[in-house]
Amino acid sequence: MRSYDAIVIGAGSVGLPTAMFLAKEKLKLLVVESNASCGQGENKAAIGGIRATHSNPAKIKLCLESLRIYSTWADTYGGTVGWKSGGYCFPVFREAEEEVLKGILPIQKEFGLNIDWVDAEAIKEIIPGINEKGLRGGTYSPEDGQASPLMASYEMHRVAESLGCDFKFNQKVQAITSDKQRVSGVTTDKEHYSAPVVVNAAGAYANELGKSVGLDIPVVPDSHEAGISAPVEQFLKPLVVDLRPGPDGRSSNFYFGQNEHGALIFCYTPAELFVGTDHRCTSEFAPSIAQRLIDLIPRLKNLLVRRLWRGLYPMTPDGFPIVGAVDERPGLYLAVGMCGHGFMLGPGLGANLANLIVHGRPLIDPDVFDSLSFSRDFYAAKDALK
Ligand SMILES: Cc1cc2nc3c(=O)[nH]c(=O)nc-3n(C[C@H](O)[C@H](O)[C@H](O)COP(=O)(O)OP(=O)(O)OC[C@H]3O[C@@H](n4cnc5c(N)ncnc54)[C@H](O)[C@@H]3O)c2cc1C
Repeated sequence: MRSYDAIVIGAGSVGLPTAMFLAKEKLKLLVVESNASCGQGENKAAIGGIRATHSNPAKIKLCLESLRIYSTWADTYGGTVGWKSGGYCFPVFREAEEEVLKGILPIQKEFGLNIDWVDAEAIKEIIPGINEKGLRGGTYSPEDGQASPLMASYEMHRVAESLGCDFKFNQKVQAITSDKQRVSGVTTDKEHYSAPVVVNAAGAYANELGKSVGLDIPVVPDSHEAGISAPVEQFLKPLVVDLRPGPDGRSSNFYFGQNEHGALIFCYTPAELFVGTDHRCTSEFAPSIAQRLIDLIPRLKNLLVRRLWRGLYPMTPDGFPIVGAVDERPGLYLAVGMCGHGFMLGPGLGANLANLIVHGRPLIDPDVFDSLSFSRDFYAAKDALK
């Protein structure tokens, strides 16, 4: 079969839930993925944090929906995505970070998010063993959580397939094709597939595909390293984000959590961005992140690190995703530029995009959704909390 109602390019953090929700609408659907199986792009590099506690209305609303989908997955679909409800905690040691975090609390509360500033004593309970020196307090949002990107992609693939969605793995889309202005399908290294609707969910490689239909999609990847430890007894509920720069100048913020199997999973944002698609680990990351983890929670000096990796953030100029229809190319939809938040945005975004494609409007307020459109001014605003 080579003719479909819609084609999704990319079986990743965003393409998979988008496909799943489109398949629920009973579309004849194809997902084309260049890797051998689902979730093997940047999806599997994510450490699995999911929070709605952003400062941007669209991200708040989409991630609230993602939280609902991930946290109720087992009841709704019968499998498991490794959901752990432990919240997010930003411990604070300096006035600068206190000001930033307190500054966005009113917006977060306006959207009904369960987040508050708590004092140092409360932080010591939330993050047992935290270094108390200079601790001023921090924010805590108990309804955020984490899940496993690998398990989630497996599950979404399973559900989408059970709803009739076709998957073609090991096929790289070389071009999105069009007939006059309207998209007409995709050409891969093996076949041509036709469809009146194509969703570009190609992550870090979104712009390569955009070029085939004359678009310059401002998604530029940069690489980030991460690691995972051997499991230890559960002691840490939330995902922890330390916004301070690292003492050795290699990192800006760093974040980590303990997954449902007890493993600590951690990464940092490099102080100087590594622009490009290099997935090779550096020799700098392990000693640098180890020092940061031990400085923050001294007992972590006993952790056994199992594995390190490097993945890409598909970045946009303003730090927000690019989502929705492309006016210049009827039938083409973008779900790209997820930056560091594609796993948490994925399900909420997929549900909204599917509704837009099939019913002509997203589930959330269309004006809020449109703030993520391709036609926006990419240099107008910056997210306070990347
Ligand atoms: C170290 C690290 C930690 C992170 N932690 C988190 C976190 O805690 N929470 C969070 O929300 N996010 C996190 N992220 C970010 C997250 O991983 C990304 O934002 C997300 O995976 C991007 O999703 P995507 O669907 O756009 O891309 P991907 O998941 O990469 O999916 C795109 C897919 O498209 C396929 N593809 C590309 N081009 C083609 C083509 N031409 N033909 C066919 N297939 C193609 C790729 O193979 C890939 O499978 C982290 C990232 C890193 C690197």
